[in-house]
Amino acid sequence: MIYIGNHVSVSDGYLAMGKEEASLGGNTFAFFTRNPRGGGSKDVPQSDIDALAAYLRENNFGKLVAHAPYTMNLCSGKEDVREFSRRFFAEDLARMEQLPGHFLNFHPGSHLGQGYDVAADQIAFAINEVLKEGQTTTLLLETMAGKGTEVGRTFEEIKGIIDRVDMKDRVGVCFDTCHVWEAGYDIVNDLDGVLKEFDSVIGIDKLMAVHFNDSKNPISSHKDRHEKIGLGCIGKDALINVVRHPLLQGRPFILETPNDDKGYKEEIALVRENMV
Ligand code: FE
Ligand code: FE
Ligand code: ZN
Repeated sequence: MIYIGNHVSVSDGYLAMGKEEASLGGNTFAFFTRNPRGGGSKDVPQSDIDALAAYLRENNFGKLVAHAPYTMNLCSGKEDVREFSRRFFAEDLARMEQLPGHFLNFHPGSHLGQGYDVAADQIAFAINEVLKEGQTTTLLLETMAGKGTEVGRTFEEIKGIIDRVDMKDRVGVCFDTCHVWEAGYDIVNDLDGVLKEFDSVIGIDKLMAVHFNDSKNPISSHKDRHEKIGLGCIGKDALINVVRHPLLQGRPFILETPNDDKGYKEEIALVRENMV
């Protein structure tokens, strides 16, 4: 079973997201927990969220991979930015708890000159602050391209954050193919080696979701520019090897490619064709 989908807009409500994804041929999806560049979040009626939960069950969807806003930076050098980031984080996790049992993915953050160790402490502090007994959402740290002072450009940096978390079973990793490639991991020529390295550094069971993107740039470019599947430097064959890899079966694969609905529909169909 392959779980594949794309990023959908929350503007028409929760149930509408499920229906939209199904119309594109998908059976998982991503959505922003609030406006990604602003910060506002409007209350969603529980009835709409429950309707989506029922729809997901009836249509055999996999786990959803919500995305925290880009403005959130849990390891900013500025205390006020860290504070509002932690508030967003707690509010968005509470929102996710209204739809139990899914993933909330977030960028570890940019340390802005503070250095990795201070940043890892601050990120883990925030995770430890929001995680409470009885919650059902799993937090996912996203692997990053290493643009600027981004934290999470190596598996070791991700592992160092997880090591500082108390409730380790509530935290996993979202493996972004574009980011990993631009960070310097050669998933084109040595996917097995990269996944082996992930396993030995973090543990493959922690790889819980995949952001499935081609890249506009060569390996190790640290730019973070996504491309449509097959049109970038990773290429179609290498990406199909990722979705077919035995170690990655059952994970939700989320397209974050620069596409409209028609493009997403085609990419979802392409992936499905190559799974048989
Ligand atoms: Fe992301
Ligand atoms: Fe991503
Ligand atoms: Zn990206």
